[in-house]
Amino acid sequence: MASINTGIEWTDRTWNPTTGCNKVSPGCTHCYAEALTKRFPQNFKNGFELTLHENRLEEPTHWRKPSRIFVNSMSDLFHEEVPLEFLKKVFDVMGKTPQHIYQILTKRHQRLVELAPELEWHKNIWMGVSVENQNYVDRVDCLRQVPANVRFLSCEPLLGPLELNLTDIHWVIVGGESGLKHRPIKEEWVRSIREQCQNAEVAFFFKQWGGRTPKAGGRSLDDKIWDEMPEAWEQHRKKWERYSVGGFRRSNKAAMTA
Ligand code: SF4
Repeated sequence: MASINTGIEWTDRTWNPTTGCNKVSPGCTHCYAEALTKRFPQNFKNGFELTLHENRLEEPTHWRKPSRIFVNSMSDLFHEEVPLEFLKKVFDVMGKTPQHIYQILTKRHQRLVELAPELEWHKNIWMGVSVENQNYVDRVDCLRQVPANVRFLSCEPLLGPLELNLTDIHWVIVGGESGLKHRPIKEEWVRSIREQCQNAEVAFFFKQWGGRTPKAGGRSLDDKIWDEMPEAWEQHRKKWERYSVGGFRRSNKAAMTA
């Protein structure tokens, strides 16, 4: 699969210069990327093995319309089998397409912090880590060391209560798991994260309650849709809007990985 116009609420499309991954923590148990790979084997000749796709590197240079691009919905860019040279090529493409916002999400926080000084952190790169329960809050400490313009957390699937240090974090996304074997989310966990965000003046985005399907539980919390975005988004949008006939890309639904 090359790029797809995904349905993730906080992004517009995906770009997968690598595909495949392996599981590192409980948030991976029902990995959406793995499920999709199994469902469409004809699109993934190496199955779920980490695969570099040199031929996809230039794709965003052909997308004129400014978009929020989720990098690697089908993999983890900081996977140990992605060479630094390849990562640098991905970062170069992001640098030469400033009309787009790139949203990278990883569970490989140690490799992220190790390689961050070798990479060029263009202003349009947003870097995030996944935090599914309290055992993984050290990922946030690593993220804090990365000089990205926007640092964000994806607490999806949220598997337990979280006490977060939100210093130098700009955005928190929360979501419940979906699928036949989804693990339940509790309202008090979500409210607590919302409160922590409000206290720290961090943008809070509630993606979904989850359930058998992503839409099953809706996405309203206390009768409100929480779609907050980091301040940098509004600034970027204003700057690039005139290049975007018909406004920025907008689409709906799907799950996310990494
Ligand atoms: S893609 Fe993400 S959720 Fe899936 S196995 Fe890799 S790190 Fe885990």
